[in-house]
Order: sequence, then structure tokens, then C-alpha cells
Amino acid sequence: MTPALPTHRSFALGEFKVTTLLAGSTPREDPHSIFGLNVSDEEFSRVSQEAFLPEDMAQFFFTPTLVDTGAERILFDTGLNAGGITNALAAAGYTPSDITHVVLTHMHGDHIGGLMKDGTPTFANASYVTGQVEYDHWAGAANDGFEGNVRPLADKMTFLSDGGSVRSGITAMLAAGHTPGHMVYMVESGGKQLLLMADTANHYVYSLAHPDWEVRFDMDKAAAAATRRRLFDMASADRIPLIGYHMPFPGLGYVETRGEGYHFVPHSYQLMG
Ligand SMILES: [Zn+2]
Repeated sequence: MTPALPTHRSFALGEFKVTTLLAGSTPREDPHSIFGLNVSDEEFSRVSQEAFLPEDMAQFFFTPTLVDTGAERILFDTGLNAGGITNALAAAGYTPSDITHVVLTHMHGDHIGGLMKDGTPTFANASYVTGQVEYDHWAGAANDGFEGNVRPLADKMTFLSDGGSVRSGITAMLAAGHTPGHMVYMVESGGKQLLLMADTANHYVYSLAHPDWEVRFDMDKAAAAATRRRLFDMASADRIPLIGYHMPFPGLGYVETRGEGYHFVPHSYQLMG
């Protein structure tokens, strides 16, 4: 059977309304072919078992985030296809034409897939924001996804560098490794902070407890591990809530240090007040 899952979760962050949107979810076989490329089968089995996880299957989640500032509706990433994100937005009470800005954290297919449907932009009224380094990388890479979904939108795109702002209170931080120009975003309103960590970690156990485990999708594996340690040290020390694009839905939680690595603490009700 296909499991039924909720597809949106909203909470207030200061003056902003933040909604995580489940644009898709799928099981993947043989997770050790993706996570822990540099550890043995025995080590992978032991870590899986200790975390109550099957070792032959991992469930993947694809979770764009919408930040509604009142004046703007800013969508971070778009899922695998237009249908997934459109359905999740509808369930949360939004239409694609409500979206004023689409921010692309990086340009893997599961983040840019919802930008277009049959060559027509999904978000008719949106302008686009992405990292300059990321755009330049894919623009020179002869990549079908980029050519079909991103390059046609380039004239409506603004390009950020490390520390650049989408608008006041939404700041880009270069978090390279997963891709050359992968960016995460610090969202701040009313004295509250939230880190949109995108694909800094692609699994809540394998990449948190073991940040140095190599991940197939990380283009520069050493840089990705260093980025995990830098951002998780910050998030744990400052006790900042974060949203991870591939964390189990709703993708929201906290990070604490544990042993040589980290531990993902799912949100329960901390941000409901
Ligand atoms: Zn991804």
C-alpha cells in the first residue's frame, strides 16, 4: 500500500508563517549504496539496527518550505515535479500564482523539478533567487534538468553570494560540498531564528550521527562533511530550529551534539505557541 502522509505543516516564526510542504516521498532500496560509502557493510548494519532502521530500504522525503512574510510568499525549492508541489500548496491553502519568489538552494533534479510543467513555468508570478556559484556551475555542465527548468527562467533570476539577502531577515549562507554552490538560509523574524539547511544532510541518522560518512550525492565529499560539522556546531550551540529538505516529514527539528557526531531531535510542540 502507499502510506498516507500529511503534506503540510505550518507554524509561526515571529511575523512570518512558515509551512513545510511534502512534495513527494519514495522508498529507495540499498541505502548503503548511497550513505556510508566509506564504511563496511557491518558498520552500516550496526548503525541502522541501533537506530531502529531497516538496512535494505530508506524512505526519502522531498520537502520544500514556504515562508509567508505577509507581503511575500517565498518558496524554497520545488520538489521532483510540478504536480507534487502544487498539490501540497493547495492542501495548505495556496495556489502556484500566490508564490512571489522561488529560491533554489541548489540545482539537483529533486529541487528544480517543480519549476516547469511541459515547458511552462509553474509559478506564473514568481521571480527567482539562487546562488551565483551554483548557477554558474550548472550553466557550464550540459545538464538536461538545468537546461529545461532553470536556464529559461534566467532573466527573472537574482543571484546571491554568501551573506546575500532574499529580503530583510532571509540571509543566504554558502554551504558548499553537496554541490559547488549549495546554499542554506537563515530566516529571522521577531527575534526568532530558523535555519533552512536544505541538503546539508540527506539522512537524519546516517548524516547526523556520522557526518563524515560519504554520501553518493555529495559532489565534494570532504567539503560536504566539513559543512555539516560547521553548520551543526552552530545550530546545536545556538539551539536554532532547522528544516531539512530530506529529513522525515515535517522535516523540522533541532540538532544536538552526541559522541563524535550529532543527533536530530524532531520538533514536537516547541514552535506551536
Ligand atoms: Zn535533494
